[in-house]
Amino acid sequence: MRKAWIAVAMLLTLVSTHALAQEKPSAKIKAVRFGKLWDAKGKVWTNAIVVVEDGKIRAVTTDASAIPAGAETFDLSKYTGLPGLIDVHTHMTFYTDETPGVPLLKQMANPVPAVEVFLARKGALRTLEAGVTTVRDLGADQYMDIAMRDLINRGEMIGPRMFVCGYGLYITATPFHKEGTPPAGGIADGVPEVLRAVRQQIAAGADVIKMYGSTGTDDDVTGFETYTLEEMKAAVEMAHQFGKKIAIHSYGPDGARDAVRAGADSVEHATDMDEATIQEMARRGTFYVPTIDHNRYYIDNGDKIGYAPGFKERLQAFIPRNLETARKAFKAGVKIAMGSDAIYTMFGENTRELGWFVKAGMTPEQALRTATSNAAELLGKEKELGAVAPGYLADLVAVEGNPLADIDVTLNNVKWVMKDGTVVVDHRQGVPAAH
Ligand SMILES: [Zn+2]
Repeated sequence: MRKAWIAVAMLLTLVSTHALAQEKPSAKIKAVRFGKLWDAKGKVWTNAIVVVEDGKIRAVTTDASAIPAGAETFDLSKYTGLPGLIDVHTHMTFYTDETPGVPLLKQMANPVPAVEVFLARKGALRTLEAGVTTVRDLGADQYMDIAMRDLINRGEMIGPRMFVCGYGLYITATPFHKEGTPPAGGIADGVPEVLRAVRQQIAAGADVIKMYGSTGTDDDVTGFETYTLEEMKAAVEMAHQFGKKIAIHSYGPDGARDAVRAGADSVEHATDMDEATIQEMARRGTFYVPTIDHNRYYIDNGDKIGYAPGFKERLQAFIPRNLETARKAFKAGVKIAMGSDAIYTMFGENTRELGWFVKAGMTPEQALRTATSNAAELLGKEKELGAVAPGYLADLVAVEGNPLADIDVTLNNVKWVMKDGTVVVDHRQGVPAAH
């Protein structure tokens, strides 16, 4: 009996020590050395030293004498440093394991929130391993995203910092998952219901508002506009009245056109946008989040997900239109942010989107900006996130190779990640992250 008690006490001590260790950013001063550092402020440093204190960046320097006495030092001089990356379109709480024989859609048909959030910690770790330390999560069920965000902020779950929307707003009968039911919490028709649904998400604790302005999800790539311009305007005005930004989903050009005219802060996915809409986005500073790579993921994994035969052709035809729209928008000077639309088992592949951006005409540096300074601006956090500079949160990524010459370096060679001044991934000796 006593022995058992001792074992339990020891276990509790272990558990609480572990939890404490992650509870807040380490107060200890740290110094991180990089061979090269791209700071997202227009400078590439050689032999950079980043001094970190209380989870924030105190200084960036090349002067070794600036390292405070007693600082914990990380020698990453073999690697290139980057700011922690930002993915502005994820669905973290739609994580699925790969239980053989059970299609992913079936696993998601009736999610128990506590189980889903617990499982989602795996996707959260994979996201960090891709160098992504911040996400904007655009659509969850039963406020699982709010629970997950708060667990991560409290240090009870290891994962990227989350900015969440609660339920996305849907019109009645929009298909969501063919094998499931649409999340009732977000259904809103007509201006009064739209206003109520926006207020409801804000009251629940949402950081941002999401509205589904067209059909299209999973293996359905139709892009029929669902909300009216008037309804979109109402959602935008109410979100902005509470100081929140709003992302409007549209697979097709009509929803995108009205989303832009209504004043949305970002338009998600849209293909075939007309010239006038693209010009208007450039003029207003509306962000475009193309999410090109998620259809590649669906093509690669559709059988496992449980899509009906014929999906590959449909999705394959969508990708070049999506890419072409991104190319036109980029050329016209539209601000672009990286969103993967990661869902199910896609976590960890978040930054593959950057490869498409290079195909759309960006240099690797321009592509990196979509996942750093641009994304931070879209979050309204451009003074805290998306750069390596004094006063910013200490989110750092070390990659092997030169990401400014080859974007694949960022996609495949992430070796080490710090978030809020705490090391969360260390693959330098082939050691997997703490699970
Ligand atoms: Zn999405």
